[in-house]
Amino acid sequence: EPVPKAWAAGAPSTGKPAVTAESVINLDHGDPTMFEEFWRGTGSAAEIVIPGWQTMSYFSDVGNVCWFLEPGFDHEVRRLHRLVGNAAVDDGYHVLVGTGSTQLFMAALYALSPPNSAAAAEPMSVVSTAPYYSSYPAVTDFLQSGLFRWAGDASSFKGDTYIELVCSPNNPDGTIREAVLSSESGIAVHDLAYYWPQYTPITKRADHDIMLFTVSKSTGHAGTRIGWALVKDRDVAKKMTKFIELNTIGVSKDSQLRAAKVLKAVSDAYELPEAREEHRLFDYGRRKMVERWSMLREAAAASGIFSLPEETSGYCNFANETAATNPAFAWLRCDREDVEDCASFLRGNKILTRSGSQFGADPRYVRVSMLDRDDAYDIFVKRLASLK
Ligand code: PMP
Repeated sequence: EPVPKAWAAGAPSTGKPAVTAESVINLDHGDPTMFEEFWRGTGSAAEIVIPGWQTMSYFSDVGNVCWFLEPGFDHEVRRLHRLVGNAAVDDGYHVLVGTGSTQLFMAALYALSPPNSAAAAEPMSVVSTAPYYSSYPAVTDFLQSGLFRWAGDASSFKGDTYIELVCSPNNPDGTIREAVLSSESGIAVHDLAYYWPQYTPITKRADHDIMLFTVSKSTGHAGTRIGWALVKDRDVAKKMTKFIELNTIGVSKDSQLRAAKVLKAVSDAYELPEAREEHRLFDYGRRKMVERWSMLREAAAASGIFSLPEETSGYCNFANETAATNPAFAWLRCDREDVEDCASFLRGNKILTRSGSQFGADPRYVRVSMLDRDDAYDIFVKRLASLK
């Protein structure tokens, strides 16, 4: 039987190709395909149907600071944060939606840089403690804005006007972080993409001025391209909204509706009396991550040439028990004296990772995605264990 062309049936693409025992395993990107298995099991809970006449207007909620925010998405974002207890959403927080949290990150840089700085001597300095997420310098500098520019490692920054990016748990090394700089005229942006119970104990309700989240890491729906910001200050919220207005005239309503339904399915599975235990995303995610981290630690021990960050733990207010941190990335160090570039050593063994040098760190380290599908992850740990 001829294989039907995906486009002919209007069927979606499947993302990264399937792997075999001989394949090159690509764990460079944090593509969260691990979660597909969970969502396959949830039936129609996260499904939506959009008739041809719907979501046609540019506008969603003309009375809101973020006029392109779907009220249903706003509602489900706040509901999920109240359920998990990982971030404050009451007391006047504005919810802003972005095309991924990447767009909101750019919006924050625009909103927090003084508008006249193009005419002033210096653009705003953007810093983050190394090792920092590799997109921060890349995204900050790619249009060579006169408003802001990448100024490197926060821990060696001199000056008192800056935007400090605080990623916690941190991409790439999974550490729990707080701002390292403090000055009247400095501003922190908290990237809390991984502050969810499958990755780390929820130890406090974060209540920073600007907090960024994304469905890419919370539910695994990276392809939906939806992120959100929780913003305290109305003027900052307005400026961030302006950036998105000028950049993309809003954010896909279809994606917002889908994201809202996905978040609703997550909350419903914990809150509705008839919900089934196997439909609880964070329980599933935690089980998977615990299993994968234990496989990885065994493989590193079997190999003998790699080291990994120490496991830490804390009391999780969401799970009501002590839980270990299970980062979405492994920050793997090759201890072999003759290997100075761990990424190229692994590439030679058909494992693609991202070099420590891209995170402002030592190339003896690499970042490895822990969120790929089972088949790829299994091949990866087997290969790693065999390296001597
Ligand atoms: N922040 C961090 C720390 C990330 O790791 C990522 C995704 N790799 C993002 C932001 C971007 O997420 P999004 O897909 O929502 O743009």
